[in-house]
Order: sequence, then C-alpha cells, then structure tokens
Amino acid sequence: MIRPSGENFTWHGVDIHPYKEDGGTHFKSITRQTLAPAEHDLPVELRYFEMAADGYSTMERHDHSHLVMIIRGSGEVMVGDTVTEVGVHDVVRIPPQTWHQFRATRGTEFGFLCVVHEVRDRPHRPTEEEVAELRQHPVVGAFFKV
Ligand code: MN
Repeated sequence: MIRPSGENFTWHGVDIHPYKEDGGTHFKSITRQTLAPAEHDLPVELRYFEMAADGYSTMERHDHSHLVMIIRGSGEVMVGDTVTEVGVHDVVRIPPQTWHQFRATRGTEFGFLCVVHEVRDRPHRPTEEEVAELRQHPVVGAFFKV
C-alpha cells in the first residue's frame, strides 16, 4: 500500500524525479513519480507524471504502448494524427509506433497515471525530416513542440 502524503499528488516514500534523467529542451515543466515497480507476474510499472501549466512531454514514438488515465487538471494529447482535449478520468491508450505528446494547454497542472511494460525500447524523437513532414499535417502540424 502506498498512501498519498497529504500534499497534492505526492505519495509517501515516492521520490519526485525529473521527467527524463538525461535532461534536454524537448520537454518542459514535467515530473515523474514511480508509484509501483514491476513485480512477479505483473511486469508493468505504474507512474504518475505531472506538468505545470504550459508544460509538455516529449514528442516521441516507440514499440511499447502506454495506458494513461488523467487524474489532475486537463490538457491536450496528440495521438497519431489526432489532438484531443482530455480531463480527469479520461483514459488514453498510446499504441505502438504512434507519435504522441501531452501538453498542459489549459492554464492548470495536468497529471496522469501511466502504465508501461518494465521491458521496453527507448523512445525515438522525430528527425528534422519527420518534423517537417508532420508540420504539414492539418491537425497535428500546429500542435506539437520539439
Ligand atoms: Mn512515450
């Protein structure tokens, strides 16, 4: 059992980490907490990510998938060629090899739980050529940050 620590969206004994250990400028104002590591016959991790207002996750794709539930605030998510406004209790699946990015575009924090397999490939960011091609898209072209 891991209980909330009483402050908003923090848990007893759970460290708040930078979103990505290696840093970079391809994301903004986002933190990561691992609520449960993979164990035994359930090889998935449960993480909580939170963006401050105007923050965003890395625009990326990879072989593994994500299963997400928003639990704080609201924002927008790009999945493939769609951009959708999402809020508390919405559930989002990110399929394999699908470009995705979360953005806190509503002036509030934006937090979500994310389930991911413990064994997974490294995310890929778009190349300059892929960015140029994606920018031509009528829906996602104006949305994503790199
Ligand atoms: Mn991802």
